[in-house]
Amino acid sequence: MDSPNSPKTHNYHFKNVYDDYTEQNAKPHIENKTVSTGSLIKSRLNFKWESTLKELEDWNSTDYSVYTGTAGVGMLLLRKAPNDKKNLRNIRKNYLQLDHLKNRSVSFLCGDAGPLALAAVISHKLEDNKIFDFCIKRLAAFSKVVKNTSSDLANEYLYGRAGYLYALLYVNKHVSPSPFNESVIRSVISAIFTCGETLAKHLKIEKDCPLMFEWHNTKYLGAAHGISGIIYLLLQARDYLLEDELNNLIKPTIQFLTTLRFPTGNFPSSLGPGKADKYVQWCHGAPGFLYMYCAAYRVFGEQHYLYSALKCADIIWWRGLLKKGYSLCHGVAGNAYCFIELFQTTKDEKHLYRAIKFAEYCLDHTKNREQCTPDRPMSLFEGISGPMYLLLDLQEPENAKFPGFTL
Ligand SMILES: [Zn+2]
Repeated sequence: MDSPNSPKTHNYHFKNVYDDYTEQNAKPHIENKTVSTGSLIKSRLNFKWESTLKELEDWNSTDYSVYTGTAGVGMLLLRKAPNDKKNLRNIRKNYLQLDHLKNRSVSFLCGDAGPLALAAVISHKLEDNKIFDFCIKRLAAFSKVVKNTSSDLANEYLYGRAGYLYALLYVNKHVSPSPFNESVIRSVISAIFTCGETLAKHLKIEKDCPLMFEWHNTKYLGAAHGISGIIYLLLQARDYLLEDELNNLIKPTIQFLTTLRFPTGNFPSSLGPGKADKYVQWCHGAPGFLYMYCAAYRVFGEQHYLYSALKCADIIWWRGLLKKGYSLCHGVAGNAYCFIELFQTTKDEKHLYRAIKFAEYCLDHTKNREQCTPDRPMSLFEGISGPMYLLLDLQEPENAKFPGFTL
């Protein structure tokens, strides 16, 4: 592959000086496909958790979202002790702010659907039917605007239909019996396909690329605002997809997207000529494509998807220690999750090793490694809660899931 530290790209990341995977290098870190007890990720976890809690204690915010607000911290606390009733009651009361939600957006990460979905799951665990029914009703009510394909609602993860679909699927996964029936889920999926086909036809690219989406007039390609994130979620909802949608819409679209790959292995952040090879982070660039390719490999079983995912992983390894910092959205923690996804897909411990090295990097959270302090330094997607979530998740790498993105 091309030099990972070419002058063109060097400004965005630190040089990765970690030794790459060999069986020998992995030995102190991995035992039976999980993190060994001697690893820093395990031995320093409690200390890191205590210091993170201290930082979180004094945090007050009127942002109630999962992405940058209190619900994201609630999600971290839920990950720490998912069945501790005292913890669950504390999260619902102090982090989900159900009385303050204002129907501002329908998505899980940046809208009301996130706190509502989390409150539904927590209320189910607490056997509190009244609040559970309230949350389900509120979530279901959003489907009216989501189904309307002539509204100006976007389709991406952060604010659009994919973000709403994630909320429904998240609740269905964690509540039994599943409260949202197939026809509701199908109606959201159909609306996403209708919007994607309409735009592709409008752009006259439908023969090569039958689906395209835009956000604020830009055809983004990455996980947060773009098509790779939307396709990743659709493939995770594979049980609800029709064969025709899989073979005649999703497959050729992925084929087209693959042609956009830079010689380095990275991908542009949006469609159009003259795009620079800049970002390697969850929200833009190769990481979003890695998730899409892994999901495509799991669904279609074709080897070339795995090859494409491995290509993404190499560029993430070389260019993923970002100067922007440690966050999930555009930082090292988000990039570490790519290796976890690939480990879960292949069971190859090389990817677990790489995830552990990136997580070790996050453990050494010092200000001088961060180019600028994040706007929301405590939050799940921009702040300290994200790397902490990763460290907790890596204790059980087979079950780890990028919060708000992987089901
Ligand atoms: Zn970002």
